[in-house]
Amino acid sequence: MIAGKWDRRIRRANELASTYPFSAEGLRYYARVAEFQKGVYGDMQKALAHSPAISADRPLREELDLFLLLPRFAGFLSLIRQAAPVPLAEAALDLAQQGTAGWQRAIEGFWHDQPGDDAEDSIEATRIDRSLAWIFLQPYAEFLADRREMVPLDGTPSTCPLCGGRPVVGVLRAEGDGAKKSLICMLCAHEWAFRRIYCPACGEEREPQMAFYSAPEIAHVRVDVCDTCHTYLKSVDLTKAGLATPVVDELATLPLDLWAREHGYHKLQINLLGS
Ligand SMILES: [Zn+2]
Ligand SMILES: [Zn+2]
Repeated sequence: MIAGKWDRRIRRANELASTYPFSAEGLRYYARVAEFQKGVYGDMQKALAHSPAISADRPLREELDLFLLLPRFAGFLSLIRQAAPVPLAEAALDLAQQGTAGWQRAIEGFWHDQPGDDAEDSIEATRIDRSLAWIFLQPYAEFLADRREMVPLDGTPSTCPLCGGRPVVGVLRAEGDGAKKSLICMLCAHEWAFRRIYCPACGEEREPQMAFYSAPEIAHVRVDVCDTCHTYLKSVDLTKAGLATPVVDELATLPLDLWAREHGYHKLQINLLGS
């Protein structure tokens, strides 16, 4: 079931690459990254198969198994050098030359930092290095989240209740005659229930300030905007496209990001492709 979720993402990325030619290049790159991430996830599963579930009291970012992670990093950097767009590929080359000590710094720096710092880094080089660490650690964080004891959630927080990461995409699922909304974490991919009309960036909840837009050719993905703080995040409506894979469909719908930016909104959390 767990390997299945990575295969679903890869399959969806390949499918959407033919449906949405404007995102084909990014999706093919993502499919290669997801294949690598599936390997990291699988390594963790093998290595930690017999360890007990992680207690729900323990903050997710207190774990960091460098012994398991570091041996994978050289292979990761060479994949990025081959497959990623130029700024990321160059940063990977640079980091490759720094050796293990530099890799450890990059990994620990990202993992122990304030969650969600990535989008605000004013120094481009730092932002790109953080993106590398993020892509690398995402499957590890997801593995930790999947192994955790689940406890009922208190309220509807605007950042991930497990790791503090920001939401990268919203999801709408059928409930009764309407739909219920949830958010998916950018780091550990945990999905948690959220309010339909509420801005995860500034807490706005007045209806006229909260709007959404969609385009007829991408009807199952909408842009949720807040006119108070001018932030946006996309939501994938599974009541309109049951086969959608929210994280992947988010990556595939670049024209919606362009539209939102042209209209003065900035994204709450950039995605793995940097858009
Ligand atoms: Zn999380
Ligand atoms: Zn807002």
